[in-house]
Amino acid sequence: MIYLDHNATTPLDARVGDAMQPYLERFYGNPSGLYRLGRLCRSAVDTAREQVAALVGVEPSAVIFTSGGTEATNMALKGLPVTAGRRLLLTGATEHPSVSETAAFLGGHGLVHRVIPVDEQGLPDPVFVERQPGTELHCVSLMLANNETGVIHPVAELADSVRQRSAWLHCDAVQAAGKIPVDFKALGVDLMTLSSHKIYGPKGVGALIVDRAVTLQPLLHGGGQEQGLRGGTEAVAAIVGFGKAAELARYELEARTRHVLALRQQLEAGLRQKTGCRIFAASTPRLPNTVQFALEGYDGETVVMALDRKGIAVSSGSACASGAGEPSPVLTAMGIPAGVARGAVRISLGQGNTPDEIGQLLDALETLPTPTFV
Ligand code: PLP
Repeated sequence: MIYLDHNATTPLDARVGDAMQPYLERFYGNPSGLYRLGRLCRSAVDTAREQVAALVGVEPSAVIFTSGGTEATNMALKGLPVTAGRRLLLTGATEHPSVSETAAFLGGHGLVHRVIPVDEQGLPDPVFVERQPGTELHCVSLMLANNETGVIHPVAELADSVRQRSAWLHCDAVQAAGKIPVDFKALGVDLMTLSSHKIYGPKGVGALIVDRAVTLQPLLHGGGQEQGLRGGTEAVAAIVGFGKAAELARYELEARTRHVLALRQQLEAGLRQKTGCRIFAASTPRLPNTVQFALEGYDGETVVMALDRKGIAVSSGSACASGAGEPSPVLTAMGIPAGVARGAVRISLGQGNTPDEIGQLLDALETLPTPTFV
């Protein structure tokens, strides 16, 4: 199989698997245990905390381990203290559902939720936040890199105006971490979401990075783990794997970027030769591994299935869980007409991909069945 869907999830790096193995078998202690086996597991969790902290340039104490990116974002947006009169929650128009659905929920539970519009390149309106009543602003949540288009958002540029309004800034950096440099402090954010399974770590583990100035309410009450912010016995092996994946991502960032960028350039050069092919957000800074495009007249899901029959795994980029054929909300927010957006195909490259595989993908796109709609 040719796997080209790394923004959905990545395979486990063998070195990460090796690091986890002892904690799946021999070292099964509860990190809260005072005896040697417990202390050994506590120490492994502490090492992982340091490794994840180093990936985004924070102190280890800022890292709160969670079950993944979705939980971390729920924890951030639901756990922030709301000051009287400050009820306005702003989110980017192309956020992942873990942000947009949480914000929509909060909008029905005491907050006022508004969406920051984006332009055709997927970039947020730069003055939207400034135009909101400053005394009402509670929190802004803006992703660092979009999961479909790969567009990198100007989070640092927004941070000043959020700070001037004494509001909180949360950033979903799930897709950015491990693909581009991510520095929590340089971005000027208060809270940041990370996930392990996008950086060759195990699924079911992530982290919320919390600035010292933020006092959060826990989402999960329990045994006081994770500084009282996330009750529940730590998933030691998964956390160890996340830590190792974060360490590798940090050391190998440059080489990884070089590898996927060369493949992306090869792919985009090939796509540009195809008549009726449109690459979304083509002229905007994007993740080095991501290309989203549409072929005129083709339905994205049909392309995905046709490629699957040839053993190539890609995504339609559409959040069409219902199967109703709705175009991607991300592209819709960018003002892409439904007829074009419905044709979206997302390729997200990874470390295991080769130039030969890109060649095979381009060949396979040449031999697609006749267009399914016009
Ligand atoms: N945020 C973004 C941008 C994502 O792409 C994803 C996963 O697809 C998530 C959050 C959710 O992360 P997790 O799968 O760890 O809950």
